Parts: sequence; C-alpha cells; structure tokens
Amino acid sequence: MHPLILIPTIKDYIWGGTKLREEFGKESKLEKLAESWELSCHKDGESVIANGEYKGRTLSEYLAENPQAKGENCKRFENFPVLIKLIDARDNLSVQVHPDNEYAQRVEGEYGKTEMWYIVDCEDNAELIYGFKEEITKDEFRYAIENNTLLERINSVSVKKGDVFFIKSGTLHAIGKGILIAEIQQNSNTTYRVYDYGRIGADGKPRELHIEKAIDVTELRPAENYELPELQETADKLSQLLAECEYFKVTKEDIHGQSELFADEKSFNHILVTDGDGVLVCGDEDFTLKKGASIFVPANTGAYKIKGNCSIIITEI
Ligand code: ZN
Repeated sequence: MHPLILIPTIKDYIWGGTKLREEFGKESKLEKLAESWELSCHKDGESVIANGEYKGRTLSEYLAENPQAKGENCKRFENFPVLIKLIDARDNLSVQVHPDNEYAQRVEGEYGKTEMWYIVDCEDNAELIYGFKEEITKDEFRYAIENNTLLERINSVSVKKGDVFFIKSGTLHAIGKGILIAEIQQNSNTTYRVYDYGRIGADGKPRELHIEKAIDVTELRPAENYELPELQETADKLSQLLAECEYFKVTKEDIHGQSELFADEKSFNHILVTDGDGVLVCGDEDFTLKKGASIFVPANTGAYKIKGNCSIIITEI
C-alpha cells in the first residue's frame, strides 16, 4: 500500500476568495477559489491521484479496484462516507441547513449531512451563524424567512483561529465572511438554503431557496455547546481530538519534530496540512508536505511518520 497525493476539484461559488491559490498552493483557471474538495469520491467533484500507478485517475476508481484501502469501518456505508474541503469565504455564505440520513435518503436519494468545521484562519471580528438565539416555532421560522427578519433570530458567534464547530444535521448554520475553514462532512451535497442576503447568482437570478424542506428538517432551538476533549502534549507534538461521531474521527496535530502515526486495518488516514512544512515518511517513500497538501494513507499501511514543523488534520472512519 502506498500513500496517494490527492489533487482537489475547485469550486468557484460567488462568495469565494483567492487565498486557496495564494496561500494553499491550489491551482485552477477559475478566478474565485471558494472550495477545494480535498478528499472526495462525490460525483460533483472527485479527487484525482497525483502519483504512482494510479496517477491521473480518480480516488473512486482506485478504491473500486482496492476496496481494502478504505478499511473495515467503511464497510457499513454503502458509499464512501466522508468529504473533506477547504473553504475560503470572502463573503458570507447563505444561511442553510442539511437534512439527516433518514430524510435525505427518502427525499434526495443521498446521505444527509453532519459536518465539522475547524477554523484554519480568520480575520479579526469574523463571525459565523450557529443555530437560533432562542427556541422558535415552525410558523415563526417561516415568518422570519418570508419577511427577511431571520438574521434577528439566529445566533452569531465570534470566531478565532483553531475554533471547532460540530454541526449536526438539522442545525441552521452559515460561514461568515473572512473565515477559512477545513470542513469534514458526510459525503453529501444536499443543502437547503433559507437566506442568501438577496444576492444574484451567476445566471443573473437570485439563488434558489428551499424553504419548505428547510422547515421540515431544522432543529428549532439553540445549538448545544460543543466541548473539545482534552489536549495531549508530548515533546514533539500537541494532539487534540476534534470530533468523533459515527461518520468520522478527526484529530489535529501541531508537530514540532516528529509524529509517529499508524494506519491499521480499520480505516484509511487522510492528512490535510493546514500550516507549515514537513515530510511524510512511509517505508522507503518520502512525500513533501506543504500548506494545503492532501494525502490519502490506505488502511493497513501500518507505521508511518511526519517530520517537520506543521499543523495537520487527520481524518479516519
Ligand atoms: Zn453546511
């Protein structure tokens, strides 16, 4: 088993900026780089492999031929379970909600979406939207959407670098302008938009809202406070579990020296470099890690290590 360097699909949504090109080394002919889909087997934007025998082919094709590379924990999912993105919000994203699995599979024929945000970088005074200020009824929610008063009812949160938000399906949310996040989510592209700041899309029309479906699936109360598990510190690294749920386990490491890692039979490891430089050493292979690098380490690879001064996000199933 050999680690795979992944090349993302880039999305140029209207609210995107240019930091993914300027600071994270993402290449694209598009002008705005709103999202890079760093680990994706989703039909709307597949990751492509940059090295080895599968160079130029998609990660989906590789996994179809090497299903054991996903690991045993993926067997309980019909489709590849996660999607990992970098998102650069120059402008506010629409206020939105995602359905849970039951609703999404019944109505949309795909997974619902629980997601997690790690704030990689943000401007001073940046804010995002996370749930309601207070409990609200369905009628009040509909009235607020239809009368453009939703912003008065929703909970704005100030953010700083390193903050983590766990956004369970059904939680109303929006990324605010000046925030760059790493998003680890269920492998789904189903979004119900309820407010879009009156913006006009690329086709000259306001972007579509999905009010009835959003009212069906939204939790009409404040989101629960999310407490991070304890930090673990050694001489060489700081390690912090960011989230663990039935779909993904996400750990952040700040490495100053060396980190010994292990991909067992249960899950692949996905490494996303959010800052600094390093090198991933696996057997007799070396992979240079720069800010923005995305590496898929197949399940059962065994021991490997990362050396250098860098911050990484490790995702497993
Ligand atoms: Zn979302």
